Amino acid sequence: MLELRQVSKSFGDKHVLKEISMQVEDGELVSLIGPSGSGKSTLFSLVGGLLTPDSGDIYLNEEQITNKSGFISYMPQQASLFPWRTILDNVLLGQELQGEKDAERAIAMLEKAGLGDVVHAYPHELSGGMMQRAAFIRALLSPQSIMCLDEPFSALDEFTRLDMQKWLLSIWEEHDQSILFITHSIDEALFLSDKIVILSANPAEVKEVVNVPFARPRDEEILLTSEFLQWKKDIIKIIQGDMH
Ligand code: ADP
Ligand code: MG
Repeated sequence: MLELRQVSKSFGDKHVLKEISMQVEDGELVSLIGPSGSGKSTLFSLVGGLLTPDSGDIYLNEEQITNKSGFISYMPQQASLFPWRTILDNVLLGQELQGEKDAERAIAMLEKAGLGDVVHAYPHELSGGMMQRAAFIRALLSPQSIMCLDEPFSALDEFTRLDMQKWLLSIWEEHDQSILFITHSIDEALFLSDKIVILSANPAEVKEVVNVPFARPRDEEILLTSEFLQWKKDIIKIIQGDMH
């Protein structure tokens, strides 16, 4: 379990995150939503150990990891594939850093992701969606038990995006990793998550944690149900509560 306890962070006199407490249980997919500039990527960097909180602590399985990197596998906002490495070598990077490479498994997963033809290609030969899938597989193949994804699909068009969401669910349902998924899309959060942590505007505090009741496996049909719409309205209300 990943746990944040009262994590605060400022940049100079700009108070970005205020006493954020939240948990991602084992095997859970938790979304963090909040407006642009609310501090989602900052939180992501804190969890990854790239930034130090002003106060508060971060725990992974009861072990304090505040300020430590290497415990979380990680997919930043831009699919950061190395241009000089082939897709296969990019995907193997997380394992390489831990000293254990399994090319066969990587190739099998790339094939399942529809990337079988580009295993030996270079990133510039791929579309945006393909690069995101490769970056995701790299995170999935890393040995860490929890993965953080920072708005991985926000640059994609609506069609590709839905395909990627369905693909992510199908792959994730076969693995036992936990995911902390950052997004500003309510639809995306509702479609993917077990739990949604809603941040307020700056300084961001946890406004509410919503448990998403939809059964798994999920498919896109639920996007059009009145139940889905009702949840969406409720979340919008919670977010708008902010503005008054
Ligand atoms: P989000 O990902 O929710 O859009 P960010 O975490 O990127 O938001 O940014 C939150 C706020 O913190 C923004 O106002 C941003 O300008 C500021 N910020 C982020 N990183 C830094 C930094 N390294 N130095 C100064 N200000 C920063
Ligand atoms: Mg961000």
